[in-house]
Amino acid sequence: MRLLVRGGTLVSPGGQRRADVLCEDGRIAALLGAGEPVRADEELDASGRLVFPGFIDPHVHTRDPGDTQKEDFAHATRAAAAGGVTTVLVMPNAVPPVTDVPSFRQRASEHGEVAFVDFGLWALSLGLSNVGEIAGLFAEGAVAMKLFWGYALDRQTLRLVYNTDDYAAADMIAPATNGEVIQVFQAIAGARGLLAAHCEDREILDVAQRQLGHAPTAYSELVVARPDVAEACSVAVGIELARATGCRFHVAHISSERAVHLVSAAIGDGISVSAETCPHYLTFVAEDCKGRDSAMKAFPPVRTRRDQEALWQGVRDGTITSMGSDHAPHTLADKSLPFSHAPAGMVAVETMVPLMLDRMCSGQITAERLSWILSEGTARLYGLYPGKGALEPGSDADMTLVDPSMQWTIRGEALHSKQRHTPWEGTAVHGAPVVSILRGEVVMRDREPVGEARGRLVKPTALPSTVDSGMMRLGVTAGAQ
Ligand SMILES: [Zn+2]
Repeated sequence: MRLLVRGGTLVSPGGQRRADVLCEDGRIAALLGAGEPVRADEELDASGRLVFPGFIDPHVHTRDPGDTQKEDFAHATRAAAAGGVTTVLVMPNAVPPVTDVPSFRQRASEHGEVAFVDFGLWALSLGLSNVGEIAGLFAEGAVAMKLFWGYALDRQTLRLVYNTDDYAAADMIAPATNGEVIQVFQAIAGARGLLAAHCEDREILDVAQRQLGHAPTAYSELVVARPDVAEACSVAVGIELARATGCRFHVAHISSERAVHLVSAAIGDGISVSAETCPHYLTFVAEDCKGRDSAMKAFPPVRTRRDQEALWQGVRDGTITSMGSDHAPHTLADKSLPFSHAPAGMVAVETMVPLMLDRMCSGQITAERLSWILSEGTARLYGLYPGKGALEPGSDADMTLVDPSMQWTIRGEALHSKQRHTPWEGTAVHGAPVVSILRGEVVMRDREPVGEARGRLVKPTALPSTVDSGMMRLGVTAGAQ
């Protein structure tokens, strides 16, 4: 099967060029001068379109198995395709989570039957409880290990415990101490893996909430109960552990100016540190949340305009390597609870690319930088490049075609997740993903999934021993030019 994508403008971090893309047997076979004659079984007219390497969402909670009333893997991956994403990396806090090689294999096989896009699997750190599984998990193909730093886990289900005053209760695995966490860093460094953490210092959060006097009842209180100093302290500790152990350390969903500043300085010091941010931090600030406080509830919370400006600056200058949606659906009934009880997380995998394209159309980010942060940077970080994240001969023929002229409005009812409520309801956007191609076959047209579920497990193939900080910051290398 030979597919020719004709007449588009290819966008890579190093620039744009007009070329036709010939795909064969799921890979890019050749890049041809525009209009060059070639035999193909099928042609796709991409004139007027920007052709990006297939976008990757590295931060997706699919709730499957465990909370499939909220979301399941089939819905989440169809939603991903509809939103212009061709690879998702699946967070490990399902029930049961991926914590060892048997659970990794089981999850890979279950998901492989219904995946609409390609997927990689995260593994969950249980502190010292599964430190002995780390080498095996990375050898098996885990893309990274997640540490929900500061959270207790239910001993039976290994679910995260969100509200407790008693971290020593017998039915819980207490949050790992720094002494335990440094051993996790050492083990992941030994496996040449990547450790990503939720960074909010538990003790600072506890004090902040005690000083507030009650559980936050509105967004204005949430930002008081989860202050930026909690994130900054946790990031600072992580940076020092990375420096001491050589472990590659990744800050998940970075939300504050202080944390961006720390990551930037650490990269300057040559420490293997990277960061991810999410569309909600780039499009909302806490004061915008009035009236949709629960819809916008996420940990860490969105903060001030100044924090948001620092995040955008980090995206533009390369301090922030990757973007994830943190897709974490809850039912509308869950989200309709009083703010203090409403769970954190939002439906987001399908709206990440449209929201960022809108910011590209308004000039807040260049197409090249978007190509980096939504594709090549993420692929490199997780060791998937150049199979993913590149428009080059030999790479997987994954592409997201974008119509930069389209104007439309985000509507929850049009989403493909199991949940159809979105904090961006009614947001007018400019630019849209209009075709997604997965390994040479169209899987989305006009924001609707098409064809069969044919996603596959992807594994890191090019694990760097350290992230090349300079390269990650610039977003370009000799090889990518
Ligand atoms: Zn998350």
